[in-house]
Amino acid sequence: MRPPTTEKAADILLKVFDSDVAQCLVPGLCVPFDFAVYMPLALNINPKKYLQVRHSFMLCLTVNYEAAVPPSEQEEFKLYNEHIDNLLQLTGDYDSVIICLGAKACSLPELANKLPLRTCRGVIAEFQLPSNTVEEYGSQSPSILSDAWLAFQGPRIISIGSTWQCKSENYASMVSDEEALTAMEELPPKTSGVYPGISKWDFVRARARIQAMPPLTANGSLPLN
Ligand SMILES: Cc1cc2nc3c(=O)[nH]c(=O)nc-3n(C[C@H](O)[C@H](O)[C@H](O)COP(=O)(O)OP(=O)(O)OC[C@H]3O[C@@H](n4cnc5c(N)ncnc54)[C@H](O)[C@@H]3O)c2cc1C
Repeated sequence: MRPPTTEKAADILLKVFDSDVAQCLVPGLCVPFDFAVYMPLALNINPKKYLQVRHSFMLCLTVNYEAAVPPSEQEEFKLYNEHIDNLLQLTGDYDSVIICLGAKACSLPELANKLPLRTCRGVIAEFQLPSNTVEEYGSQSPSILSDAWLAFQGPRIISIGSTWQCKSENYASMVSDEEALTAMEELPPKTSGVYPGISKWDFVRARARIQAMPPLTANGSLPLN
């Protein structure tokens, strides 16, 4: 669910649902411009959990593949789950190589100083509904994307993100007390602007990651070609 909170965002977004329909989907949702965009097929991805499941899925595929395809027709798959310091560690005969190291891409000597990436550290806070609260977040209600994003992980747990600390080189996922405090000052105002019900949820923990962003242009951060 995407309720715009500025006129600029409202102009850009296509009017899809008026506020009544949006509030039916998310009871208590604030809709400052009286409409929201609903993307029923949009997905919230928790990359770590996603990759763990995906990894198991790929292993199953490989096992099925070996059983289903005659050996003479099989292509070779290899999965190395290890840290690499440079691309030479993966020498071999490849048709092509795709590098997906996220914000750490520039740590490879082969790519260092070649990509104009900005690194931004973001804190994500997890909240849960106190056990004595009967009311839960509806199982059919979507997550919310606004100045902050609210990723509901079931009826009683929510992850909210994120803060933005640009030029950070702190890759630790652990968050200091001071950083958590700053996040707790920054995130609730952004969140309560669209979902005031957040005041009923309790803070549980915070964690952080670095993301790599393309350079900022007048048209936003556009993908690099
Ligand atoms: C706080 C925060 C908020 C975000 N919010 C959003 C959002 O709202 N919407 C959105 O679409 N995106 C968001 N993102 C960005 C999203 O998480 C990333 O775009 C996405 O995870 C990038 O995927 P990736 O596969 O390119 O990199 P990553 O998910 O970073 O994966 C890179 C992988 O490479 C591995 N790796 C790194 N170095 C090495 C090495 N030397 N050897 C071996 N492996 C290595 C890492 O361990 C990691 O598993 C956010 C990111 C952060 C940090």
